[in-house]
Amino acid sequence: MENSFYNYSLLIKQLLISPLSSNPEQEIVDNANQRYNYKRLNTNIHTLANALRELGIKKGDTIGVMAWDTIRYLEFFFTIPMMGAILHTINIRLSEQQILYTINHADDDILIVHHDFIQVIDKIREKISRPIKIILLNSKKYNLSDNNTYLYEDLIKYKKLKFEFEDFDENTTATKFYTTGTTGDPKGVSYSHRQLVIHTLGFIAGSSVSNYSHRLHNEDVYMPLTPMFHVHGWGFPYMATLLGVKQVYPGRYEPKRLLDLIKQEKVTFSHCVPTILQMLLNENKKLNYDLSKLKLIIGGSAMSKSLAEEAQSQGINVVSAYGMSETCPFLTIAQMPSEARISSQKELIKMRTKTGKPGLLVDLRIVDENFKDVIRDNNSTGEIVVRAPWLTKGYIKDEKASKELWKGGYLHTGDVGYIDETGSLIITDRIKDIIKSGGEWISSLQIEDIVSKCKGVKEVAAIGIKDVKWGERPIIIVTKIVTENAEDITKRIKERISNEIKKGLLSKWAMPDKIEYVKEIEKTSVGKVNKKLLREKYKFIKTNE
Ligand code: AMP
Repeated sequence: MENSFYNYSLLIKQLLISPLSSNPEQEIVDNANQRYNYKRLNTNIHTLANALRELGIKKGDTIGVMAWDTIRYLEFFFTIPMMGAILHTINIRLSEQQILYTINHADDDILIVHHDFIQVIDKIREKISRPIKIILLNSKKYNLSDNNTYLYEDLIKYKKLKFEFEDFDENTTATKFYTTGTTGDPKGVSYSHRQLVIHTLGFIAGSSVSNYSHRLHNEDVYMPLTPMFHVHGWGFPYMATLLGVKQVYPGRYEPKRLLDLIKQEKVTFSHCVPTILQMLLNENKKLNYDLSKLKLIIGGSAMSKSLAEEAQSQGINVVSAYGMSETCPFLTIAQMPSEARISSQKELIKMRTKTGKPGLLVDLRIVDENFKDVIRDNNSTGEIVVRAPWLTKGYIKDEKASKELWKGGYLHTGDVGYIDETGSLIITDRIKDIIKSGGEWISSLQIEDIVSKCKGVKEVAAIGIKDVKWGERPIIIVTKIVTENAEDITKRIKERISNEIKKGLLSKWAMPDKIEYVKEIEKTSVGKVNKKLLREKYKFIKTNE
């Protein structure tokens, strides 16, 4: 006789079981002074699902969201996939044309749009290729004469409270979103319920490995500082919810408001790209808030030693982590030993800025052009390729690029690095950003790390520009502290780079041909230095000062 074994699928809805059972009164806070508990989160998820069902949303449909980081967004993270529909987190910082491209490419059926983005939608609406319904968030007045536009607040007013979230195949697609699109059209990736659930567990388990790690636990207060459209806010809203921790959603990112929230709500756990960290540190020089309870994970780009030093001097416990849009994103995190085992401040900073050890279940290899593992000699570099249970299957509607991505059965990251003597990954560059000069490979990240330590330098980007004789030559683009003199800084930079070359730590070709001082260095939509654009901009610059 068959028994009634329950075949437990890994579905997003299951991430709510533990917090609702163990910590239902725990708070979730929104910058708009909304404050509720996990029970209310659950009720809102059910109400919203009923509203969406009435609008005709069914399994497999796609709902695009354009919103700031709010409690509402957290509700979308759950409701939409829990209905078997697909959450498309639209990158609100892309250009109008790119937003239109992603809406069409993702086959969105409904758009949920915060009031602040209505203008964008108005401009592109006629070019959206499918019939689409629009739900306006935080909006009171809008021309609602066409019957495909709804006000969110009206929709959720009188709905039934209970929705039957059915079980379905854990491999069902839950989310999709697009890469930042600095090279050509943005590329789409998607993730299944199973992948998101395992990613959630994978990070929680992986970050508990070391003694002095960035473990997320139930006494933490969590706030995102990576937008929720960027790789699901790196997956942390799912982790925080599963653990039932207090959560704080900051809305639009404004430095003073972010710091006020950190102070008032006693935030202890967050994550961001280096540029956001820099922005917070600058603002806090004025405010002088105590940030000593804050654990902060820095990813998206390498964290320079000088940035880590500054963060540490303001009391923040920072470490690096590594991942990408195609990897859900978690791949590695720097593991910190207990403080007693760290011999010096220099050592501590070094540990904080390492790219980190692969997370549990992450199979990470460094390979040469023949797909052979490079020797582990603390120096030889190669491409980083990975396997993990949560990597994207490929790019949406792009077979050719998907094949390239998964060549040889491993996901090709396009990043170059090596494993050091402690087993930590060190990224030296992206394949596309390496500067190839005089037959040697020069790491742009290494130059940036050295230059960022020079007094007076605020930010630096190193790029290679074409050179007839040498193939490429490095130039650096620098923003400086206003009160400092450019000539003095240039002297310091040259001195420091010469020293590193003399010590054999840097290629002899690494001295930049040009040091260009600018007011601002161009960034991508997620706040990373836009090297593609810089290469284009400076391709004709006169070098050899
Ligand atoms: P994205 O898909 O926009 O998240 O970008 C992913 C890319 O960011 C990776 O392929 C790396 O080149 C870079 N990246 C992410 N984390 C780090 C890190 N800790 N150090 C250096 N580069 C990083």
